[in-house]
Amino acid sequence: MSAPARKRVSLSQSAHSWQQAMREAITDADTLFERLQLPADQLPGARRAARLFPLRVPSGYVDRMARGDLADPLLRQVLPLDIEHAVAPGFTADAVGDGPSDLGDGVLHKYAGRALLITTGACAVHCRYCFRRHFDYAAHHAGGEHGRAAVAHIAADTSIHEVILSGGDPLSLSNTRLAALGRQLDEIRHVERLRLHTRTAVVLPERIDDGLVAWIASRPQRVVLVVHANHAREIDDHVAAAMARLSGAGAVLLNQAVLLRGVNDDAATLAALSERLFSVGVMPYYLHMLDRVAGTAHFEVDADRAQRVLDELAARLPGYLVPRLARETAGEGAKQVFGHRASAN
Ligand SMILES: *Cc1c(COP(=O)(O)O)cnc(C)c1O
Ligand code: SF4
Repeated sequence: MSAPARKRVSLSQSAHSWQQAMREAITDADTLFERLQLPADQLPGARRAARLFPLRVPSGYVDRMARGDLADPLLRQVLPLDIEHAVAPGFTADAVGDGPSDLGDGVLHKYAGRALLITTGACAVHCRYCFRRHFDYAAHHAGGEHGRAAVAHIAADTSIHEVILSGGDPLSLSNTRLAALGRQLDEIRHVERLRLHTRTAVVLPERIDDGLVAWIASRPQRVVLVVHANHAREIDDHVAAAMARLSGAGAVLLNQAVLLRGVNDDAATLAALSERLFSVGVMPYYLHMLDRVAGTAHFEVDADRAQRVLDELAARLPGYLVPRLARETAGEGAKQVFGHRASAN
């Protein structure tokens, strides 16, 4: 048991920076298996699959998982499995067409009025279902030398009213880097909204530190934070406190989830997620259909079942707690949104 060592870590946690928590993330299958007391016969497969896309999970997120349970919905999202080697028809490396729509400077300008900036390739967690597990970050991200070109692109196009910081995860950037980017965007008068897409706020709530909160509060643009939680149990007291700090800084908080087989593909689980989100001040926004990316087929929920789950969800919840079921299609001008059918029964 490694309990004594862990105790020391958690006792001094308040003194730890989020960077330190990032560095202390679990990145090998052996440690994860030992920590959660998982069945050893699954370990070789986990080691192999981690070579396809490295394992990465913050320690504090592992604390929210059940011990000894391979089916734990939080564990499923980060656990490498041999099944990722399976070749499934229709599952490819660039399922959403990000390659072709990138202008080469880390700006994805696919949708009217909104430009998405790939600020960094780094994430606090590696989600096994991620559509970017094959994405060539080195070639595409808008950090470093690319940054100037990305900002110039936005400055030159007055139709862009919203800049979306994405990645990877923009909250992998230091507060200093965010401040520098913010100063450049502040010069561009037609940018009225600043949106951040981040899973870090959920998996590593330490990231929502005083410096970040002050930066958000001082933005001249309206700030929208789209967090990414897939299950109610991801939102513990630390995450709730982080959401309160973000709301306090004036940010509008939304959630996007991905519909994942074995994680959240039933109405009761999704209803609990919506209610938990609302209780911490976050409105459900999108429920994404899985992007058909190689190595993720075992997470897929077919369209018929997705529609049925959404209809049942709509029958349980007030309309404002029902997310929009969305699918991204290569080459389309917007995400394709499916409503729920009015008469579900
Ligand atoms: C999803 C996405 C957006 C934002 O779409 P919304 O429907 O406004 O949330 C913008 N640009 C790109 C490239 C996207 O993939
Ligand atoms: S945090 Fe987001 S971008 Fe990063 S691996 Fe997870 S889903 Fe993908």
